[in-house]
Amino acid sequence: MKQLAILGSTGSIGTQALDVVRSHPERFSAHILTAGSNAELLIAQAREFQPDTVVIADERKYEQVRDALADLPIKVYTGEEALCDVVAMPSVDMVLAAMVGFAGLRPTIAALEARKPIALANKETLVVAGEYIMQRVREQQVPLLPVDSEHSAILQCLVGDFGNSVEKILLTASGGPFRRKDAAELQHVTPADALHHPNWKMGAKITIDSATLMNKGFEMIEACHLFHLRPEQIEVVVHPESVVHSAVQFCDGAIKAQLGVPDMRLPIQYALSYPERLGLSGERLNLFALQKLTFEPVDMQKFPCLAYAYEAAHRGGNLPCTMNAANEVANLAFRQGKIPFTRIGEIIRATMDAVPFDNQVAPDVYFATDHEARTVAEQLIL
Ligand code: NDP
Ligand code: MG
Repeated sequence: MKQLAILGSTGSIGTQALDVVRSHPERFSAHILTAGSNAELLIAQAREFQPDTVVIADERKYEQVRDALADLPIKVYTGEEALCDVVAMPSVDMVLAAMVGFAGLRPTIAALEARKPIALANKETLVVAGEYIMQRVREQQVPLLPVDSEHSAILQCLVGDFGNSVEKILLTASGGPFRRKDAAELQHVTPADALHHPNWKMGAKITIDSATLMNKGFEMIEACHLFHLRPEQIEVVVHPESVVHSAVQFCDGAIKAQLGVPDMRLPIQYALSYPERLGLSGERLNLFALQKLTFEPVDMQKFPCLAYAYEAAHRGGNLPCTMNAANEVANLAFRQGKIPFTRIGEIIRATMDAVPFDNQVAPDVYFATDHEARTVAEQLIL
């Protein structure tokens, strides 16, 4: 029985992780649940799963959660610090990092320092601090399992081939909702258009990142760190059907790919049960119904965020952190209707040019850079 700390249990990944727990009660328990501010859902989850502890990060919601759970022996905490404390509890066997954005970095570092195995959905952690995180993973000898579907696919391809030389990764991308739009049309797309992803139902922030292809840029950086590869070894392949979840090409030219219907419960569950596979009910891939799979190159002129990510990956240092912070600010401003879609990339570019480069591998540098880059990006929006 694995006792899980699920950071971000009220989100898209968090709720699907709880589906996995629900179908394997003999294997997993939801020991700790945490949310940002969605008190209602956190309370409902706590009543169903009876965790040991819950954390509501938003302090204004603390009393509501505490009072609603007063009849149960569940500890209730609040604040950002509490997130870092609970992951280190001795009774926690694994941490699922499924918070969104830079906010996920600190609790993930806390889990690493407490030597807890981590199932990582929060890709921003590896974008911002990949070098540092992977260094601590090696030093602490902590398992770090990817939840992102592409990286789970890559891991599934590597199983049985660890130690064999990889030539490149074929990182598949659906292309997002605007794959067929031209540059002029992109000027006028709305948040509602962008929030309508063709194949995946995800949280709002990552759905916008998928529309700009910033998400694919993040995933390229994530893959470099997780699998010790150079950026030029990661090739983005647009594959609108989202059936091939990614592929690995080895030194002899052999390509292994992982296929399946788009369902995040599989990569979530695989990270929790790795290296074992557990049963998962649901739709199966029907190749006869599908008939064909299509692949096309990516247009980085139309989607410059992906080009910025390659640049950030090459230069390293705090540049990916700057890029991430500018993206968080611009992504939110677009969702709030403050800027047009094409401005997201422009703000990221301008922020990357404005914030001083720093090559030190240290959390303090990331926190300072994040702060500075947000300030720059916010001024560009005014
Ligand atoms: P959601 O927005 O759906 O959920 C985010 C979760 O984090 C919620 O539980 C939210 O709480 C919580 N949260 C947000 N901000 C804070 C904060 N400041 N402090 C504490 N908790 C906070 O996001 P997703 O589930 O879509 O994504 C989560 C992560 O997983 C992201 O990094 C994303 O890139 C990655 N990912 C997601 C995929 C998907 O299919 N959704 C696929 C691959 C990766 P509340 O509900 O209270 O706001
Ligand atoms: Mg992904």
